[in-house]
Amino acid sequence: MKQHMLNSDLRNMLPSMTHGKCVSCGSIIATDNRMKSEEFLLSIYNNLPKDYWQELQSEKSNSFFVELGNLLNPNQNSDMSICDVGCGDGKFLDCISECWQKFGVELGKANEHMINHKKITYFNGTLDRSPFRKHSMDIITYIDVFEHLADPRKEIKIAKEFLSPNGKIVIYTGNANSIYSKMSGKNWTYLNVVGHIAVASEKGLINALNSCGFTKIDVLNVNHHSSVSFPKWLFYLLASKLLGNRGNIPLFNDHMIMIASI
Ligand SMILES: [Zn+2]
Repeated sequence: MKQHMLNSDLRNMLPSMTHGKCVSCGSIIATDNRMKSEEFLLSIYNNLPKDYWQELQSEKSNSFFVELGNLLNPNQNSDMSICDVGCGDGKFLDCISECWQKFGVELGKANEHMINHKKITYFNGTLDRSPFRKHSMDIITYIDVFEHLADPRKEIKIAKEFLSPNGKIVIYTGNANSIYSKMSGKNWTYLNVVGHIAVASEKGLINALNSCGFTKIDVLNVNHHSSVSFPKWLFYLLASKLLGNRGNIPLFNDHMIMIASI
């Protein structure tokens, strides 16, 4: 995986990336300098290269986006609003049905020209600073975003303010406690992405949602769209063990989608 964010400043700050695991819920948190300097990480997101988002996408991600859109609005209601936080180049919003009223928020700046401004009401920044109406969104999505947040609970509270009374928060992220991520241990590729500073377990994320008042929670265990096949995963796992726990073990069946409402 290309380390877009690992520039020379960050390399100096990070002699090595280290992680700790919560003994109670199994969530994984960066214990190195990344956590101490959220501002610095924010400045990196502001200066991401223009090809950052395209590199993350494939045919598989497009069909995943279509399916997720259909799951969230099966009857294609045209009065449903959706806000994608960390929308990048707007690919998810582009892929889902035209029936939605679409809103997007992105902290990075390099994506601006890729956003379809005619179809997406867009804000460059964070959701809490956005001019979007409070208590108005039917769905707020975080796709490959939560693992980048130093304070996930704070973001859940912000989403709650922008959701309509029956609205749903949708979080798609890695699961620190899946069988496959646990078997990969510290060699799990997901932990070698500089931006991944807090990787939740299912229990950890449910606890966080509960503590913010989200009591109805559906959990789907899913494969990330960039994951490899099982034989390939097994090959990398065995190779890593044979080499004395070295190298990166790719993603396989280690993601979750949480759909939660009050
Ligand atoms: Zn915990």
